[in-house]
Amino acid sequence: MPAPEQNSVDVAVIGAGSIGLAVAYYLVTRHAVTRVAVLDPRDPMSLTSAQSGENYRNWWPHPVMTAFTDHSITLMEELDRTSGGRLNMTRGGYALVTRRARPADLIDELYRGYGETPGRIRLREADDADYQRSLRSPWTAAPDGVDVLLDRALIRSAFPAYADDVATVIHIRRAGSISAQQMGQAMLEAMRPAGVRVRRAAVRAIGGGAPYTLELQTDAGVETLRTERIVNAAGPFVRDIARMLGEDLPVKCVYQQKISFRDREAAIARDMPFTIDLDGQQLAWDAEDRALLAADPATRRLVEPMTGGIHCRPDGAVDGDWIKLGWAYNETASDPHADEPIDPHFPDIVLRGASRLHPRLAAYIGHLPRGAHHYGGYYTMTEENWPLIGPMRAPGSFVAGALSGFGSMAACATGAICAAWVTGSAVPAYAHALSAARYGDAALMAELARSGKGSL
Ligand SMILES: Cc1cc2nc3c(=O)[nH]c(=O)nc-3n(C[C@H](O)[C@H](O)[C@H](O)COP(=O)(O)OP(=O)(O)OC[C@H]3O[C@@H](n4cnc5c(N)ncnc54)[C@H](O)[C@@H]3O)c2cc1C
Repeated sequence: MPAPEQNSVDVAVIGAGSIGLAVAYYLVTRHAVTRVAVLDPRDPMSLTSAQSGENYRNWWPHPVMTAFTDHSITLMEELDRTSGGRLNMTRGGYALVTRRARPADLIDELYRGYGETPGRIRLREADDADYQRSLRSPWTAAPDGVDVLLDRALIRSAFPAYADDVATVIHIRRAGSISAQQMGQAMLEAMRPAGVRVRRAAVRAIGGGAPYTLELQTDAGVETLRTERIVNAAGPFVRDIARMLGEDLPVKCVYQQKISFRDREAAIARDMPFTIDLDGQQLAWDAEDRALLAADPATRRLVEPMTGGIHCRPDGAVDGDWIKLGWAYNETASDPHADEPIDPHFPDIVLRGASRLHPRLAAYIGHLPRGAHHYGGYYTMTEENWPLIGPMRAPGSFVAGALSGFGSMAACATGAICAAWVTGSAVPAYAHALSAARYGDAALMAELARSGKGSL
C-alpha cells in the first residue's frame, strides 16, 4: 500500500506531454507548489509531443497569438540558458514563400499580427547588405519582426535553391527550431529535487469536487488519488477528462503527417530556414496516373486543387543530411481512440507538392530512401485554432489543451499561464482571450471567424 501522503496532492496534472510537464514545471519553479502529481500511462513526451516538427515562430495573424508565442519564446530562451543549452535552439527563421508579387493581403496580415511597432516589418525592395549579413549569423544578428523580400534578385541571392518563379519571401526572424524532447527532459530534471515525478497511471474516473478523487489505473491495479485541483493536459484526450468533470470542450482532433529521410542528393541546403510554400497547387501526374486517381473516389482529391502550406527544412545538425517535410492539408476530424488514419499516399503527395518550390526533391518521387520515416499525430484544436488555457467549469479544475500545431513552441507560456491560473496569481493581459472566457466575447469570436487561422 502506498503511504497515505502519496495518495493526496495539491495539484494533479493529467498528461505528461509538453504541456502537462510545462504546467508542473512552472507550478514548482515559480509558485513553490510541490505536492504535484503528473499522471500518464505512457512514457513522458511519447504521444503527440513525440511527433512535433519542433519549429517555433512568433508570426500569427492576431496580436494575441503573437504576444503568446513571443512570451513562450522568451521563456524557452531562459530555460535554454539555465539548462546549459539543452533546447538546441536555432534561429534560422521561417521563410514563407509565394509566387505572388507584393501580396497585399499577406503584408496586411503581418501588420495585424505584429502591430505598428516601428521597424518590426521591413520591406526589402532591393539587395540589402544588412539583411544579407544577418543571414550569415542569425543568432547574433537576426532582428525581431520580419523581412519581406520583394526583389527577385535579392531572393535569388539569399535563397538560390528555390524555384525561379518565387516573387515574395516573408522571412520571419524570431523563429527556428528547438529540441522539444530535451525541453521536456530539462523540465523533468528541474522538478526532481522538489520530489515531482511522473506517475504511470491513467485517470479512469473523477469523483467529488475540490477535493476530487481520481480513480487511477496503474500497473498494480486500481488506485485512488485525492487532489485539491486538477489540470487537464491530456492532449488528444482532453475531452475525455473534461467529460469526467461534466463538461464538453469544443475541440476536435485532426491528423497531420510528416516524412523525414536522408537527403543523399543534397537537394536542400543545410542553412535553409524552415520554408513554407504558401501557394495552393494541383499536383503534377502523368496522364495515366491522373486518370486512375480521378476514377477512384478515395484518391480523387489528389488531382484536385490542393491548399498551400507545404513545409520543408533540414533536420538535425548542420553537417547532417536528414530533412523533414510536412503538409497539413487534412481538415477532417478523427476519433483519437480509433487507429491512426495514416495515409500511405502521403509521402508521394508531399514530395510532389514540395518539389514545385525545391525542384531537386523531384529526384525522390517514387524513390524515397530506405529508412525514411513517415509518421503523424493529432492537431487537437478548437474551430478558431486558439488554445484553451484556464479554468474549466468545475471549481478547482483547469485545462491546458488544444495546442494544435504549435504546442512545442507554446508549451512554456502555456505552462506559465496555467500555473498562474491554478494558484490564483496574475496572468498576462493576453491570456484571458486564450481561456474559455473568449466564447462570451461575441466581437472577438466574430473577428476570429473572419481572420486566418494560422494553422501551418
Ligand atoms: C505532425 C505534427 C507536427 C507538429 N509540429 C509542431 C511544430 O513544428 N511546432 C510546434 O510548436 N508544435 C508542433 N506540433 C504540435 C505539438 O506537437 C502539440 O501541440 C503538443 O505536442 C501537444 O502536447 P500535449 O502535451 O498537449 O499533448 P500530448 O503530447 O499528446 O500529451 C498528452 C498526454 O496525456 C496523456 N493522457 C491522455 N489521457 C490520459 C488519462 N486519462 N490519464 C492520464 N494521462 C492521459 C497521454 O498519454 C499523453 O501522454 C505538431 C504536431 C503534430 C501532430
